[in-house]
Amino acid sequence: MTYANVIVDLSAEAVDRQFSYSVPAGMDVQPGQLVAVPFGPRTLEGFVVSLSDTCDLPPEKVKPVLRLARPEPVVLPDLMELAEWMHTRYLCNLVDALRLMLPAELRGGRVRERTSRYVRLNLTEAELDDFKAANPRAKKQIELLERLRDGDIETARIEEKSALKALSDKGAVTFYDSEKRRTPHALKNELYSMDPILLPEQKRAVQALTEALEHGGGRFLLHGVTGSGKTEVYIRLIRRALELGRTAIVLVPEIALTPQMVAWLHGRFGGDAAVLHSALSAGERFDEWRRIRSGEARVVIGARSAVFAPVQNLGVIVVDEEHETTYQSDHRPRYDAREVAWKRAGQHGAVLLLGSATPSITTYMRAMPGVRPENRLRLIELRQRANGRPLPEVEIVDMRGEFGRGNHSIFSARLAAELRKCLDDGHQAMLFINRRGHSTFVSCRNCGYVVKCDQCDVSMTWHQAENALRCHYCGKTLPPPEKCPSCGSRYIKYFGAGTQKVQEEVRRLFPDARVARMDVDTTREKDAHERILNRFRSGEANVLVGTQMIAKGLDFPNVALVGVVAADLSLNLPDFRSVERTFQLITQVAGRAGRADVPGRVVVQTYDPEHYGIRLACEQDYRAFYTRESAHRRAALYPPFTVIARIIFSGRDRALTQASAVEAEGKLRAFLKETGAEGDVIQLGAMEAPIKLLRGESRFQVLLKLYFKADLEAVAAKMQALADAAPEGVRAELEINPNNLF
Ligand code: ADP
Ligand code: ZN
Ligand code: ZN
Repeated sequence: MTYANVIVDLSAEAVDRQFSYSVPAGMDVQPGQLVAVPFGPRTLEGFVVSLSDTCDLPPEKVKPVLRLARPEPVVLPDLMELAEWMHTRYLCNLVDALRLMLPAELRGGRVRERTSRYVRLNLTEAELDDFKAANPRAKKQIELLERLRDGDIETARIEEKSALKALSDKGAVTFYDSEKRRTPHALKNELYSMDPILLPEQKRAVQALTEALEHGGGRFLLHGVTGSGKTEVYIRLIRRALELGRTAIVLVPEIALTPQMVAWLHGRFGGDAAVLHSALSAGERFDEWRRIRSGEARVVIGARSAVFAPVQNLGVIVVDEEHETTYQSDHRPRYDAREVAWKRAGQHGAVLLLGSATPSITTYMRAMPGVRPENRLRLIELRQRANGRPLPEVEIVDMRGEFGRGNHSIFSARLAAELRKCLDDGHQAMLFINRRGHSTFVSCRNCGYVVKCDQCDVSMTWHQAENALRCHYCGKTLPPPEKCPSCGSRYIKYFGAGTQKVQEEVRRLFPDARVARMDVDTTREKDAHERILNRFRSGEANVLVGTQMIAKGLDFPNVALVGVVAADLSLNLPDFRSVERTFQLITQVAGRAGRADVPGRVVVQTYDPEHYGIRLACEQDYRAFYTRESAHRRAALYPPFTVIARIIFSGRDRALTQASAVEAEGKLRAFLKETGAEGDVIQLGAMEAPIKLLRGESRFQVLLKLYFKADLEAVAAKMQALADAAPEGVRAELEINPNNLF
């Protein structure tokens, strides 16, 4: 007898273990297969983790596998191993990790192959001539036969139904069903592009990388200034991998924001390229997944979860713009795609290539001397732009001076003058402000009251288009107040600026400008990103205003001016990474200028021109920034020199939520003392979270800061157990080095 050890497709702590089922004779069950099994009174799907000859249960208690949900195993052996690693690493249920390995709709059979009926000619040339001679008046039938000579036709495309039926009755044609693939929009156009000649730096990079690919793999950081042609390096490395019969995965922060990457890879790899991301329809995702699973597509491009693509014989994983926060999942399982990629590349002896113009401090540190071999990244640098031009000139404008000179506009005189010149020269400009909406907060001049969301402890933003105040956390809207809700004064002022305000100001000051805007509000519809970017690319718009959506990856040759309207916005956030984020944003946006023959100019407006984050971004000196910032992190005991772990408690009952946090803190303290880990603790406390109310729920946190050398695994496991023990009505979530600490 063979037994299948199955994880049922239910996410609950209590069933997160393997159940044994007998395999009926004649059923070919393999590890990794999705099967239907009886579970109590129900029938559930489950993943076969392994097979065995024995079973601990008495024979009469063992139930049989009912059927296979899919003919082929859906989780390949290496991905099964990866899921098990994630189960320990990220303290998630095994089933939560397994679910990441396949399109969601495949579970429960919610999506299937799409088939279509086709018709085929059944006659030889001679028989066709005989047919014509015998049926001279059957014009439509003869016409149809002629069309079928050129190839099979989908019946849905044939309008002459009666002619078709007549031919079928005479045995002249036969019908058959065949699969009809659903192709994602991004891969529909046939694109071909030629290889440029590599620049010396690119060539050296490709050499080092292919060398590693051919000799057991390796891990690399490709630090290349903006416009240095990192993509071309990825492409050549992937091409070599394909020549060697291997496959590749390219991760991008967000598919919609990086349409050029998909187009470039598709242009070079054609049908070998597949895309995987959440904006695909269920059918498209399913079909792309199967194209990868079958080995037909060998280069996968996708967002975070594409790291689980079912490719075999993996040779390369590229993580483009590796510093982006989207690589870290902010819900369970809270995995980091860069870390998973690291692990997966190791499994296959593949090359892991992290690429960025502004690597995260954590990543860059691994490329510096003194790192243990198992954590080390080899550094490859591209210092020159591919077009041979220098990086754009960046000018800092001190906004404090502007007000004194009587300029109350959001544009400094300098930026306004540059914009005027740019438009007059027939060039294009990008204006960046990392806030959407019109005015960022509404406040009473008399008493200082600020309108906040009553469900979230954050100020509301005025959106001009709807003339409404909106909460960017929960989406709640309110009509703007006519008088102060607190003191009744009518002296209400709108402060701060967002994308809408910038757009409006451009229109007011430059009536001849054609302004496009790209932010969360203008891109809610499917394909809106593409439409806006196309308007700008084609020149129909000559000014593009946007949030961080326009900061990365875009390559428009005619952009001569980039304006950073308010560089300080991200600088003053209550998070230890705020300087790093600001540096990355400014460097990246500045890098959008001067990418082809048009020289670029960048104007950065700030109230804090001396700040090293802003100054070094403007000098585009990553190394100096890294040195400064890592010294600061070391001194202030912040990651990557320490680890921050927190349990965030949220619930409608404020007192109960607080009590849960306080209790968990006490237990954690006792645990740390018992295990002798106290010495590793830098800080531990239960407190209100920085945003103390979100969507009507109170928020408290237990925040723990540890030295890096601590036994994080044991501490994290304890914290997870404390989170799992939260009382009814309180949600508790463990986060390790989360993307934000709000
Ligand atoms: P990065 O990602 O490093 O900012 P990209 O990969 O977007 O840079 O490349 C910038 C531009 O340079 C693109 O338009 C690309 O087509 C072009 N490019 C890259 N390599 C070469 C090369 N060897 N010769 C000519 N143009 C190149
Ligand atoms: Zn007031
Ligand atoms: Zn809200």
